[in-house]
Amino acid sequence: MTVSRATTAGSAPGGRAPGGTPRAALADLLAGNRRFVSGQPVHGHDVTAAAASASGDQQPYAVLLGCIDSRVPLEAIFDQTFGSICVIRTGGHVLDRAVLGSIEYVVDVLGVPLIMVLGHERCGAVDATVDALRTGHRPPGALAHLVDRIAPAVAEVGLDEPQVRPLAIRRHVRRTVTALRADPLLAAPLHTGRIAVAGALYDLATGEVSLLDPP
Ligand SMILES: [Zn+2]
Repeated sequence: MTVSRATTAGSAPGGRAPGGTPRAALADLLAGNRRFVSGQPVHGHDVTAAAASASGDQQPYAVLLGCIDSRVPLEAIFDQTFGSICVIRTGGHVLDRAVLGSIEYVVDVLGVPLIMVLGHERCGAVDATVDALRTGHRPPGALAHLVDRIAPAVAEVGLDEPQVRPLAIRRHVRRTVTALRADPLLAAPLHTGRIAVAGALYDLATGEVSLLDPP
């Protein structure tokens, strides 16, 4: 990854000049999702090495933290192209130090104005967490790391809640947003409004992304 802030406005086909507002970035992202849902993506045709080469310096306008689920490819569902968004994916969009450091880099060095946390329905990582808490069997290996970080959201909803799985997904997104907003290095740009953090949910059936707490 480059360590200098991109300065050539407009050179990246899908990117945005540094200094864009969080509101504009969010509008662009959601517009891309509407193109995807309507079956009219503008970038679906240029997923080629030539398009990658033409992107030049990266000028991303958003960083997205999503799940590894193979049904939720973030560039596709937001109709984005090379250089336009930074994507981080972990099981159950778990936020850990490596992820946080990556987001801090994108915000500080690349000047990105928007962080989006995207959960999705029927998330296997949340299911695994609910199952682990119900059975009392902590999963082996590093999977326990994911379960441990999703467990507070499940516990807040409550295992007795009939809709624990879908509700825990939403709670986990909101908890992740809250954790990002509490990060000391993100506090200053958040305070001035230079950046924003948004939580959203992806509907596997329709392809639609909806904001959990619209501004
Ligand atoms: Zn998932």
